[in-house]
Amino acid sequence: MSSKKRVAVIGVGTMGSQAMWRLAARGADVTGYDRFAPGHDRSAAGGETRIFRSAHFEDSRYVPLLQHADRLWGDLQQETGRELRRLTGCLLMGPTAHQQMSTVLQSIAEHGLDHEVLDADALAKRFPQFRVEDGDAAVLDRHAGFIRPELTILSAARRAEELGARIHRYTPVREIVPVGNGVEIRTDGRSERFDAAVVTVGPWVNDLLPDLPWEVDIRRLLSAWYVPTADDWFGEERPAFIRTAPTHCYGLPSPDGVSVKLGLSRALHRPVDDPNRLDRTVEPEELEIFTELIRRHMPDLNPDPVRLSVYMEGYTESSRPLMGPLPGAGNDNVVLLAGFSGHGFKLSPAFGDIAADLALDGSTPQPIDFLSTIGRTAA
Ligand SMILES: Cc1cc2nc3c(=O)[nH]c(=O)nc-3n(C[C@H](O)[C@H](O)[C@H](O)COP(=O)(O)OP(=O)(O)OC[C@H]3O[C@@H](n4cnc5c(N)ncnc54)[C@H](O)[C@@H]3O)c2cc1C
Repeated sequence: MSSKKRVAVIGVGTMGSQAMWRLAARGADVTGYDRFAPGHDRSAAGGETRIFRSAHFEDSRYVPLLQHADRLWGDLQQETGRELRRLTGCLLMGPTAHQQMSTVLQSIAEHGLDHEVLDADALAKRFPQFRVEDGDAAVLDRHAGFIRPELTILSAARRAEELGARIHRYTPVREIVPVGNGVEIRTDGRSERFDAAVVTVGPWVNDLLPDLPWEVDIRRLLSAWYVPTADDWFGEERPAFIRTAPTHCYGLPSPDGVSVKLGLSRALHRPVDDPNRLDRTVEPEELEIFTELIRRHMPDLNPDPVRLSVYMEGYTESSRPLMGPLPGAGNDNVVLLAGFSGHGFKLSPAFGDIAADLALDGSTPQPIDFLSTIGRTAA
C-alpha cells in the first residue's frame, strides 16, 4: 500500500465516517463528502440508539466480523474518550421453536459467546416488563447493548479529521467518473481527482449509481418512543430486546431513563420512492401495530408515543450488504458499501476497516465471502 494514497469517501454517515477513520489511521490522504453533515438524522442513522449484539440470529457467519467490530469499537472509544457503546445485554425472546432461536444458539455454541438461556418463568420473573406467552423462551446475549449513533458518527468523523482528513459538508456528489488509474469526484461546480473512492451513500445509492445491477430496496422506518407507567423498565438490568414472533419487533430503553424506543422489522416498512422526499408525517394508522404490541407484550408502557421519528435504510434481497469494487471497465478503484438491510450499525467499524482494506490494498483478510460480495453471488 502507498501510505499517501488519495481516497475520497462519498457519504460521511454510518459507514463513511468509520471508513474515513480507518483510512486516515492507516496514513491515507482522505477527503469526505456529505450532502448534509456528520451526525445528521435524515438518513439511516439517528434516533439516539442502535442495538449491538455479539450473537447473530440471522447468520452465525457474521460473528467473526462482529468480533472484529467489537475490537474496533473499543479502539474508537479509547481514541475519542467518548462512551459510544454501553453493554447492557440484549434479550432475544419468542417461541422456543422459532428458527432465529436456533440460529442464535448455534452462533453462541460455535463461538463460545457469553449468554444465558431463560425459560418463560425465569424470563417473567427477572424481566417483569415483558408479558411472556406459553412456549416462549429467551436468550440473553451478555456482550451486547446499545450504541449512540449520532455521537459515533461525529466521533469517527472528528477522529479522522484529527488524523489529517478533511470533510466537505453540505456537498452532494453528483458523479463518480473513472479516469486513468484513478477517479474524479464531481460536485456542483467542482471536481477533484483521487486514486480511489469509497461510496457509502446509504439510501441514496440508486440515485448516485442508477445503473447498479443489484436491487437495493429503500424503505422508510418508523421509531416510536413510549413512557413506562411502572418502574420495571428502569431497574438495574436494562437490556435491549428483540421479539421474533408473532410480530418481529425490537426495543431499547432510552439512555436517559425516560422512555423505551420500539421499532419493527423490514416487512412492515413502506418503500421510499425518492430519498430526497422522505415522508416524515406519521399517520395514526401506522401506530396501531405498536399499540397492539404494547397491549400484548409490554403492558407497562403507556400506549401513546411521546416521540416519533422516521429514517431510511437500503435492503438487499438476501439482507446481506453489497461490498466490493463497482463492476464495469475502469471501476476497480471505486469501492461500494450498500444495502445494510437494517443491521449494519453494530458492524460499522469492521465494515469501515474492510472498506479501507479494499481501497488501499484491493483485498481484505476479513471473512466477507458469504456477503453479497460484488462480482459474485453470495452462497
Ligand atoms: C430505524 C433504524 C433502526 C436500526 N437499528 C439498528 C440496530 O439496532 N442495530 C444495527 O446494527 N443496525 C441498525 N440499523 C441499521 C443501520 O443503522 C444502518 O445499516 C446503517 O446506518 C447504514 O449506514 P450507511 O452508511 O449505509 O447509511 P447512512 O448512515 O445513511 O450514511 C449515508 C450518508 O451518505 C450521505 N449522502 C447520500 N448521498 C450523498 C451524495 N450524493 N454525496 C454526498 N453524501 C451523500 C448521507 O447524507 C449520509 O450521511 C437501523 C436502521 C434504522 C433506519
